[in-house]
Amino acid sequence: MGTRAVPRYLWFNGQIVPWESATLHATATIWSGMHSVFEGIRAYWNAEAETMYVFRLKDHLRRLEQSIKLVRQPMPYAPMSLLDEIPELLRANDVREDCYIRVVAFPSERRMASFADEEVPNLLADTAPYPSRLREDRCRAAMVSSFVRINEGTMPPRVKSMANYRNADLAIKEAQNGGYDSAIMLNRLGEVAEGPWSCIFLIRDGVLITPDLNSDILESITRDTVLRLARDELMLPTVERRVSRTELYLADEVFFCGTAAEIQPIGSVDRYQIGDGAVGPITRRLMHLYEEAVRGRLKRYLEDWCTSAPVPAGATTI
Ligand code: PMP
Repeated sequence: MGTRAVPRYLWFNGQIVPWESATLHATATIWSGMHSVFEGIRAYWNAEAETMYVFRLKDHLRRLEQSIKLVRQPMPYAPMSLLDEIPELLRANDVREDCYIRVVAFPSERRMASFADEEVPNLLADTAPYPSRLREDRCRAAMVSSFVRINEGTMPPRVKSMANYRNADLAIKEAQNGGYDSAIMLNRLGEVAEGPWSCIFLIRDGVLITPDLNSDILESITRDTVLRLARDELMLPTVERRVSRTELYLADEVFFCGTAAEIQPIGSVDRYQIGDGAVGPITRRLMHLYEEAVRGRLKRYLEDWCTSAPVPAGATTI
């Protein structure tokens, strides 16, 4: 295992600080993971424009605000202030490659149960290189997991809470142990919900279908992006509805989508081959369009979706 490079600067509790100085006492972290909510955001390098484009930053920060509200987390730092601060952080770290940005809201000095007066709220943003895989041709083999997706009555999937991720973690480990690449989770009704850290689409007879927002899924920003590109650019009929497991087996194309996953084609589900087992034609067109969108090459969406962070001229100073 190689050592992971760390960025020079982080954004921590209101300011950009050197990586080394963003510290907490070890005991302050014991329950903080369970209580934390977060966002995973991507920024893409556009060489012609010499700029990083942060993709749908405002939408991610809005979702973070909603997660903070739903878990009743006191938070003195306004997530929306990161609209300016994240481009600043990319500049400070002189990022000129595709990268992943995590924004985590977490209390420290907190016990397992809620004692709000004992907690210290924190908001942290970091950056790490994360190359795009949109040009890869690889199809994943997925299995339908025996682990049921969390639901509104237990761990609301609408909250992007770290605690929710044990669910996907169990599913993906089960799948990989069984020789698959990834897992598909069903909800408590036995209908298709999501992949791990991603939403799912299928294409059948030219119609793009995805589980609706009441299928125990995260309100995914990439899902929304794919729906809009399919409708407005490819003029495809799209349907958001309950999806049965066996529809996956009979689909012409299936893919996962998410900020980290981007658009990830699936070649088989439970060893049923999907289409001819290779990247399908609609999936390929969506991958291409998605790449054009995230790199700021689709004028129609540029202002709405891409926050520009031009690289600094010359040496970085802060
Ligand atoms: N579902 C879950 C559980 C996720 O963690 C993610 C990744 N954030 C997604 C779906 C996809 O959401 P988004 O497109 O907003 O990244």
